[in-house]
Amino acid sequence: MHRILISACLIGRPVRYDGAGKPLADRRVAGWLAEGRLVPLCPEMLGGLPVPRPPAEIVGGDGGDVLAGRARVVTATGEDVTTVFLAGAVATLDLARREDCGHALLIDRSPSCGSLTIYDGSFSGRRMPGAGVVAALLAASGIAVFADHQLDRLAAAIAAGEGGEPATG
Ligand code: SF4
Repeated sequence: MHRILISACLIGRPVRYDGAGKPLADRRVAGWLAEGRLVPLCPEMLGGLPVPRPPAEIVGGDGGDVLAGRARVVTATGEDVTTVFLAGAVATLDLARREDCGHALLIDRSPSCGSLTIYDGSFSGRRMPGAGVVAALLAASGIAVFADHQLDRLAAAIAAGEGGEPATG
């Protein structure tokens, strides 16, 4: 059975910076959860950050640039949390490998979990194309990363890997 790493906030766990979750209401996600297929975790908490915490954005690039040492992760209050984000990303990859996750379903726009879009580091609500630190590390390590709005593609990939038809809806 293919296991799927999932942002813990997507199954409603109250792990976001503001203490909220962001549950994804979808019967495929509910089914995977019931099957024990999902491996939920919050990389930022895994790195050691508390709830609540100040929001953070990547300054000077995207998650790949953070991994390469060319960009930093900074909170809205000006604290450099790059080291904590990197630690959370490495711990996430380690867990994904131990739990045999070939796929990841991550919420988009987060400086950790975003995979297609992130905020641009100006704390003004502007977005830019790019991945967060965790998504960049997982993708570079051979794990297929899907954003929360790419569920159809994830379901198709899972079905193809198991020789079946994708579940719809
Ligand atoms: S780091 Fe990922 S799992 Fe944790 S709150 Fe942010 S988006 Fe959700």
